Amino acid sequence: MQGFIIDIKPCRDDDLIVLILSDKHLYSTYRFYGARHSTINIGYKIDFELESNYKSTIPRLKDVMHLGFPWIFDKDKLYLWQRFLKLFYPHLKDIEEVDPFYCKLLNELISSISKQNAKRAICQAYIKLLEFEGRLHNDYICLLCEVPIEHEVSLVRSFMPVHPNCTFSKKFDFYKIQELFEDKSLISFSDDEVDYLWKILVQGI
Ligand SMILES: [Zn+2]
Repeated sequence: MQGFIIDIKPCRDDDLIVLILSDKHLYSTYRFYGARHSTINIGYKIDFELESNYKSTIPRLKDVMHLGFPWIFDKDKLYLWQRFLKLFYPHLKDIEEVDPFYCKLLNELISSISKQNAKRAICQAYIKLLEFEGRLHNDYICLLCEVPIEHEVSLVRSFMPVHPNCTFSKKFDFYKIQELFEDKSLISFSDDEVDYLWKILVQGI
């Protein structure tokens, strides 16, 4: 099986609980001496096997093979990727069967991070995630006062549009947000603006 390590929790001694997002499931697995294995790290894509044991409620993770990306040794890109992947566990933990959409999105994101700034690539992928989940508010109705938004837009958590005057937060030209929501493109955004979007994103997907 293949999947992404989306979080790791230390257990007793050097053992770890390793949370893995695969095509269809979110697995909580147990890895003996996991802290000593270089193949286990948040954000890594792995090939793995699971072994169920009647004595334990969670399967044992074994035969882990790390499947690298071209930018795996780029510390900045890896850090941003890890921050993003850690947001998936709280987001998906109560879902029994996960849609293959998420792994597909992450696989596409690996190649877009090779080609461009990681924050831009991740924010653009996040828009696709919102759209897939039906949470992309491209009706441009203010979350707070429920009046349509024109000219300038502010965004709050989950990129929900609001009037700048309703939140007193950073404003964007309407066309830019429209371009982002409709074309999934940040081409008109400056690096500072992308930084601002990134800070909203890390509050939670
Ligand atoms: Zn408003």
